[in-house]
Amino acid sequence: MHHNNRVVCPVCNAENLELKYQAAYEYSYKIDANAPGVHNTKELLPYMYDSREQMGAKQYIECQSCGTNYPVYFDKWTKGITSHMIQEAVDSAYMAQQ
Ligand SMILES: [Zn+2]
Repeated sequence: MHHNNRVVCPVCNAENLELKYQAAYEYSYKIDANAPGVHNTKELLPYMYDSREQMGAKQYIECQSCGTNYPVYFDKWTKGITSHMIQEAVDSAYMAQQ
């Protein structure tokens, strides 16, 4: 049980946790008369894409002390999320790995 505002690693009890968020995107560039991409004229500029689609996303909390990863998913990071809820997510990910 945790009765304070700390979030600790269930394996080593360190408070040295980071949320990692990996996302993969596919950028599309229409082939036209000049450089690929309707918005590109002379060269292919990666940020001048015609469409972007998110292909996948992965979140996990990683303990910077022992290296254990805890898969989590937060879709709305609002004021309503408490350290207690984060601790519960870490604890349940830990239990699922046992
Ligand atoms: Zn740890």
